[in-house]
Amino acid sequence: MNFKDLNIIPPILEGLNKANYTNPTPIQEQAIPAVLAGRDLLGCAQTGTGKTAAFSVPIIQLLSEKPSVPRQGRRIRSLILSPTRELAIQIADNIKTYSRYTDIRCAAIVGGVSQKVQERALSQGADIIIATPGRLMDLVNQKRIDLKSVEILVLDEADRMLDMGFIHDVKRIISKMPSKKQTLFFSATMPPEITKMVKTLLVDPVKVEI
Ligand code: AMP
Repeated sequence: MNFKDLNIIPPILEGLNKANYTNPTPIQEQAIPAVLAGRDLLGCAQTGTGKTAAFSVPIIQLLSEKPSVPRQGRRIRSLILSPTRELAIQIADNIKTYSRYTDIRCAAIVGGVSQKVQERALSQGADIIIATPGRLMDLVNQKRIDLKSVEILVLDEADRMLDMGFIHDVKRIISKMPSKKQTLFFSATMPPEITKMVKTLLVDPVKVEI
């Protein structure tokens, strides 16, 4: 099995090649076709399994195959929520590599760095944003970010977001998005609060476990 067998489009294959990825990892083999088919996903996987590419490669592909309408003025089409700045920045760096030969753009919105710099990145237009809940909530409250155009939501390490006390912000952020969207939910463990969220957020999800 290689990425071409998963129907990945040539510009993304080129980006994966640049990253020296030759074959998909097991989670990528399972998740990529489900996400490309538009399904919701529940993934129980740790970092180190290739989880980032498992969700971001099909997102880049879905967004490039279905250009934004209207084309002028990019809107946020995919939001990836991550518990820590480090992880968010790492995800953004990976997405930049995979999408290098497409016209998809991404930006990281994290605490601890100047909001001005992030606002500049946003004003230049981003299809995908990778954010930590606190800083994103600030920008949403200041009406500098509009989440009404989000088509695909990813919650990465949901159990860690719960442990870190972000669950309230996460729920508020979700309430600012359309209810009709594709949701990809990753959590290494399934405490009751997380199970409850899964039940309300996901519609007939494909389950992927590594
Ligand atoms: P992740 O679980 O997404 O943090 O990925 C763990 C590490 O594996 C990262 O350094 C990735 O760049 C790398 N990786 C992910 N998918 C592949 C792949 N298909 N082939 C080779 N390396 C990969």
